[in-house]
Amino acid sequence: MNNYHLNTTCIQGGYEPKEGEPRVLPIVQSTTFKYESAETVGKLFDLQESGFFYTRLANPTLDAVEKKIAALEGGVGAMLTSSGQAAITIAMLNLCKAGDHVISSSAIYGGTFNLFNKTFRDLGIDITFVTPDITAEQLMASFKSNTKAVYVESISNPSLDIIDVEMFSKIAHQNDVPVIVDNTFPTPVNFKPFEYGADIVVHSTSKYLDGHAVSLGGVIVDSGKFNFANGKFPAFTEPDESYHGIIYSEAFGNAAYISKARLHLMRDIGAQQSPQNAFLLNLGLETLFLRVERHCKNAQQVAEFLENHPKIEFVTYPGLKSNKYYNIAQKYYPNGTCGVITFGVKGDKETCQKLIDNLKLIAMVVHVADARSGILHPASTTHRQLSDKQLVEAGIKANSIRLSVGIEYVDDIINDLKQALDKI
Ligand SMILES: *Cc1c(COP(=O)(O)O)cnc(C)c1O
Repeated sequence: MNNYHLNTTCIQGGYEPKEGEPRVLPIVQSTTFKYESAETVGKLFDLQESGFFYTRLANPTLDAVEKKIAALEGGVGAMLTSSGQAAITIAMLNLCKAGDHVISSSAIYGGTFNLFNKTFRDLGIDITFVTPDITAEQLMASFKSNTKAVYVESISNPSLDIIDVEMFSKIAHQNDVPVIVDNTFPTPVNFKPFEYGADIVVHSTSKYLDGHAVSLGGVIVDSGKFNFANGKFPAFTEPDESYHGIIYSEAFGNAAYISKARLHLMRDIGAQQSPQNAFLLNLGLETLFLRVERHCKNAQQVAEFLENHPKIEFVTYPGLKSNKYYNIAQKYYPNGTCGVITFGVKGDKETCQKLIDNLKLIAMVVHVADARSGILHPASTTHRQLSDKQLVEAGIKANSIRLSVGIEYVDDIINDLKQALDKI
């Protein structure tokens, strides 16, 4: 499938049925698989033969969707997970353990912030949060001898900061450390982190990749480019006694990272996506290219409408000339960024809630990035655990509203906002 346009890969990638097989990716709703001999199953366990034996590790429906997403991102392999949070957890634990240190952008999803700041610290993993606009020199100075990973969101949820992935990758690589990019917001349609030096990509597939708010999931994609045998990652170069002495970098070459994620962490943690969810995710992926295009077109028009409205204090959208990331967005995102806009109403928390209550078409939902327009007040919902200082660091104001522009007819979205603004 390598020579096709991304849109074609969205539709047909990953699944190539043979003679007489279903044209559409089937749901293999089975935890287990039948074999004729004990010897064959032994070989599967020893990785001498490839095949499926238990859905916690791998399943044919998931396998096809993983291949599609790997192709979309340009990676050597991918692994689906039960949620975006599970993908991030496994992606990081595949690199670091107690006593290690991680550098993360502070402009990240609230759930990821808590995962790092609470659970990872409890596990003994030290975290330094850096501002997304950090200079190369400052970033260089943030590394310690035990730093094992750099984590960023290409476009952050919900603050819409844009990371200079090329700069982060360059500095990380000078320190022999890989960069993990959460690419949930732009999707590979608008941005491919591997082309700018990133090593690992994660997604909450619950967002644009599924696109219909029906299937919770996550994915990890391996670029295959990072050298885990550089001396900093003994878990890849020394025998894993829990998997009869396998040495991941030798057994799997440039797919060592994604193989270890599956054989070690998916085996132990079991945060596997269900075949039903993977099927639904695949249906969503088929229209990803079309949807993302429309999300971005609609969001640009809505952002421009809001920016010109007298009751609006500020609009954050990288497609607006007034945005501080406008220039960097032109470099990294020539086809658009995402469908999410953050804006502030002139007023306080109550004004925000009143506006949201007055909307008819745009629904108040704890979700972004699906076909239906949705709206949310982060300070009182997704980010309510954060202190005022942490809110500022995450780029969220008390009157910030997150609007996820859907793919409805754009005038209907704008008219709904207009009538709700008239009432405040
Ligand atoms: C939603 C989201 C997550 C978490 O994903 P879940 O599927 O909800 O677990 C992580 N990162 C970003 C950028 C998100 O938007």
